[in-house]
Amino acid sequence: MRVIIFGPQGIGKGTHADLISNKYGIPHISIGEILREEVGKGTGIGRQIDDVMNSGALVPDEIAADLIKKRLARNDAKKGFVLDGFPRSISQAKDLEKIADVDVVLFISGARKVLVDRLSGRAACEKCGKSYNSAIPSLKPKKEGVCGVDGGRLVRRADDTPEAIKVRLEVFEKETIPLVKFYGNKLVKIVFKEPNAPAERNFEQISKVLDRINDKLESAGSEKGA
Ligand code: AMP
Repeated sequence: MRVIIFGPQGIGKGTHADLISNKYGIPHISIGEILREEVGKGTGIGRQIDDVMNSGALVPDEIAADLIKKRLARNDAKKGFVLDGFPRSISQAKDLEKIADVDVVLFISGARKVLVDRLSGRAACEKCGKSYNSAIPSLKPKKEGVCGVDGGRLVRRADDTPEAIKVRLEVFEKETIPLVKFYGNKLVKIVFKEPNAPAERNFEQISKVLDRINDKLESAGSEKGA
């Protein structure tokens, strides 16, 4: 199953992409993570995009598309994938059409005020990477700034600043929302009934949609094989 997941920053795309990856056995491919790795390693690309990422603007299309193309060419993506953060504009969606087909596009929608609070509240352990969020009761650290698992320090993303959050949400409205129309009947819009409920509970809404599509793909596959 080849899935795209998109939605405004702070809606929990990454968490749900991980849950999809675990349930359906397909890799979670996050372009944001891939780009942050380039920055972290200090590669030529990383040095080129560091400032742009911190500002909240999009890095050049060629860079994002090229990294996605390389990632999708790896063996584990042959059986499917959940693509998080790409495409983020119509031009990137056209780039993707040249690289891979998709079966379903999930659009997770949510109210702006909730998103700003969530982005402002999120942090992760610098040792084990566990995510926390002081704006979500079930994800609030017991002791502020400290990981409940290993006592590591909780650090915030460089682009979770008020200025960059504003730019990122504006870019989403202007560049990414047009994808709703672009993907037409491949798109499924999900609005969580209780946005602050634990992710596993909200995931049931996503599971229902993906189970249906997965069953269809599997029966089409076995008909072909018969
Ligand atoms: P994310 O982790 O998905 O919130 O992405 C973090 C940052 O990476 C964004 O604010 C952009 O600077 C950059 N980025 C992520 N995805 C893309 C993309 N598809 N095209 C260009 N830049 C991107």
